[in-house]
Amino acid sequence: MLRECAAAGAGGAAAELQAQAQVQAQAQAEAEAVAVLQMLLADHVADPPEVDGVFGPRTRAAVQAVQLAAGLVGVDEADGIVGPRTRRALVASGLLYDAVETPAEVAGTPPPYRATVRWRLVGASVPAYLEVSDVVGELAAAFTAWAVPSGLTFVHVDESAVASADADIVIRFVDLSPANNFVFDGPGGCLVRARHDAISFDEMEQWELLRVGAPNTTPYGRASRHPHRRFLKGEEHYFALLPVALHAIGHCLGLGHSDASSDVMSPYYSRDRVALSAADVERMQALMSAVVSAERQGEAAEANEQEEAP
Ligand SMILES: [Zn+2]
Repeated sequence: MLRECAAAGAGGAAAELQAQAQVQAQAQAEAEAVAVLQMLLADHVADPPEVDGVFGPRTRAAVQAVQLAAGLVGVDEADGIVGPRTRRALVASGLLYDAVETPAEVAGTPPPYRATVRWRLVGASVPAYLEVSDVVGELAAAFTAWAVPSGLTFVHVDESAVASADADIVIRFVDLSPANNFVFDGPGGCLVRARHDAISFDEMEQWELLRVGAPNTTPYGRASRHPHRRFLKGEEHYFALLPVALHAIGHCLGLGHSDASSDVMSPYYSRDRVALSAADVERMQALMSAVVSAERQGEAAEANEQEEAP
């Protein structure tokens, strides 16, 4: 009996030590997670918190700043609490880093397009779960949205066309993992890269088409849902192509990022952002009128030079 009690006592002490070790390990894991969060915040806010693993007031304020910029406050996030949507804004869905290096808007130089801009999609690069013709339709909708504010005409060039080689903007799906911070996990980080002559969507993401103008042909409505939805739940795993395409075309045409979460030029992804905001339209009009006046000045200068010539 005595021996049994002693054994039980020793067992109790061991269990207590084990429990203490578990608490310590949990605290350490939490501190490490907070430190990762603090490092991520440094990419998003001008005044990031110190990386110390402690979720203090400055860390909370930085999280709130990201939530505000991403349009998450008042949606489904309590202020300063890092829920799934905030995680996605920080890691998995940021459109951050996709901007052309010096947007025309900033540089004050015109985007190098004629009045008619020809674009083509590299069909062979489109993921197998998407119909190429549906992707073309989604991209065409995005180009159409920018046509009026830019004053440009966008023409889709079919790949089979002889002249497709001289499209102004070539669009393809590529693996952007090497360009992302989290190279090990494929998805995440940057969704798209845009230059004035090319748009690259990350093929590692799980894309869906909203088919805004299409008839309701699926049980879900117009949208074509990713096949993984049947076993991988969670809205944060899937990205609609249309809002990302609107954003990328804005970059192609020379716009930089916007701080307002309602603008398609916001660097944070939102599935609901399927139309240009008034601010997006105004910025594009301002950019294009600056281009036109620069061209007119150039023409006027040339005319003056000719007049002065003997
Ligand atoms: Zn961007």
